[in-house]
Amino acid sequence: MKEIEMCSCTFCGRPQKAAKKLIASPNGEAFICDDCIRICRDIIKEESQKVKVFKDLILPSPKDIKKSLDNYVIGQEQAKKVLSVAVFNHYKRINYNEHNKMHSKKGKDAEIKNLLELEKSNVLMIGPTGSGKTLLVRTLARILDVPFACADATTLTEAGYVGEDVENVLLKLIQNADYDIEKAQRGIIYIDEIDKLARKSENRSLTRDVGGEGVQQALLKIIESTIASVPPQGGRKHPHQEMLQIDTTNILFICGGAFVGLEDIIHKRLTTSSIGFNANIKNSTEKAKVDYSKDVQPDDLIKFGLIPEFVGRLPIITGLDDLDNSALEKILVEPKNSLIKQYKQMFKIDGFDIDFEDEAIAYVAEKAIALKTGARGIRTIMETKMLELMFDLPDPKVYSKIIITRDFIEKGSEPILIRKEEIKEEKEEAV
Ligand code: ADP
Repeated sequence: MKEIEMCSCTFCGRPQKAAKKLIASPNGEAFICDDCIRICRDIIKEESQKVKVFKDLILPSPKDIKKSLDNYVIGQEQAKKVLSVAVFNHYKRINYNEHNKMHSKKGKDAEIKNLLELEKSNVLMIGPTGSGKTLLVRTLARILDVPFACADATTLTEAGYVGEDVENVLLKLIQNADYDIEKAQRGIIYIDEIDKLARKSENRSLTRDVGGEGVQQALLKIIESTIASVPPQGGRKHPHQEMLQIDTTNILFICGGAFVGLEDIIHKRLTTSSIGFNANIKNSTEKAKVDYSKDVQPDDLIKFGLIPEFVGRLPIITGLDDLDNSALEKILVEPKNSLIKQYKQMFKIDGFDIDFEDEAIAYVAEKAIALKTGARGIRTIMETKMLELMFDLPDPKVYSKIIITRDFIEKGSEPILIRKEEIKEEKEEAV
């Protein structure tokens, strides 16, 4: 054994004299000081706490998940139901598989061999722009308290092309999990505009399909279970950059898109297959509404331009409806964080009560329908109209209530302003 006085900590290099305690390894070749022991203990403690968080994943029932979604998402009943069950099953599956893993670690491998490994089921949402696809996924992640990241498929490219690498989506998820990889590995990723990756049959073989099939292939890798290496800063991979490793096995991928033209493909199949079989299919002239949860078959999506392997990875399919006037009016008012509620709060800070006449709300919904961007139009319309008012606020010493009329939104007329005294008088009369 070495002379202990001359020794130093093998980990931090601190000499024996500077350390409170220096412990030698059994063979006397290595040493560790009390400070390094403390650091090691903290690391181990942190790791074991992370595992604990995992075990304690609280899982509301599908009914409760749907109920929470109802607070934020108007309509889209079928999609809410399908997603509630899908995420519930997804996390139940993770709990089950992790539980089994823990058992196998305890040496019960024989038992584990007989257990079924549950495979994950990613989801495909088909619905027009602004119908609530992103909102649904974002809200689900919030309800379940899991990290969430969202990407636009049209900005993604295969690694090496100019644009955003597919791995960057994983980086966003890691960042949203505050770089807690364990947490990120149980997150939800939403990939929007997935229909725009459809391969166009005409350019299939000649050029490399940068924006379409290639990206489907790249996405397929992360959607399936893989250990991906992600550059911590995002952007292009650099040879000397240290990579973050993330296992995508337990990440739930939800893809969405409008899939314009898919309905025709489905109708065509339904009508052709009915010829000669006398099937109970609707007449082609009166195109019945497609129920995406039941009517879509993998072949329809492949015909649309998704590659078969990709379709195979999205076994749960659901559809979202176009939002009509009444739904848009409700969206303005009812959700927990509706735009109207937000405006009310904003004006309250400045000392005003603000009311919106029903006619004003109906007009915003009408305008939004005309814009054809679903509920997205609502915010644009409201923001431009309310901006003027917020720029030129009435005097809060004189006025205390503002009423937004249809004319204010439609024609830019002045809103109705109510003086403080009037409100006082009203109150006194009421008493
Ligand atoms: P999509 O992803 O289908 O294009 P989004 O979810 O991004 O649409 O919707 C844009 C915005 O419109 C949302 O942030 C939300 O404010 C509103 N919105 C859309 N659909 C709904 C809905 N069904 N219920 C409540 N709000 C909605």
